[in-house]
Amino acid sequence: MKVKQNLRVRIDADAMERIWHWTDLAAGEFSCLGTVADDILVGDVRLFDQICTAASTELDQEALAKFLVTHPQPEHVRAWIHSHGRLGVFWSQQDEACIEGLANEACLISIVVNKKREWKARIDVWQPFRLTFDDLPLEIRLPDQNLRGECERLFNAHVVEMAPVLMPDWRGGVRQQQQQSQPYRGGWPDFDDDLADWR
Ligand SMILES: [Zn+2]
Repeated sequence: MKVKQNLRVRIDADAMERIWHWTDLAAGEFSCLGTVADDILVGDVRLFDQICTAASTELDQEALAKFLVTHPQPEHVRAWIHSHGRLGVFWSQQDEACIEGLANEACLISIVVNKKREWKARIDVWQPFRLTFDDLPLEIRLPDQNLRGECERLFNAHVVEMAPVLMPDWRGGVRQQQQQSQPYRGGWPDFDDDLADWR
């Protein structure tokens, strides 16, 4: 399906780091919930009260209700993340039931991880149709440190980009002659135009 090709889940680096710490700390499974922004960005992951075993984590309705009542943005809590501990990453029957239990009018992002740093991500929607997009790429959003200006200054100070001069060679094609290259700034020339002259 075409819509799946560009679909990916993004997650804040901060949220991902918390998930890995909790995954390491838990002997077996654990669950947490996160918010989802409009551009499918998971953030602000938080733990709720839970009783876990080596192979299960209960999403207790009472604990969930308490969590949502005290959450500053309960309407944005649309991500459920849980760990399988030392087991593989897959959607168990219990996971499927849990996802159905979290059905809402927008969407639900689910991520399952394990101690080997493996993960699996999916998006479920219930309206207007029930759809599941599974095995989606998970992209970590690094915090913007405002380094663009500094990087640009250092790049210009240290990097000279040479534009290759294209010359016809004996095979009738073209090859690059680095010896005749000139320092070039402001992007590469349009090779298609240069090549057209030699055809
Ligand atoms: Zn599971």
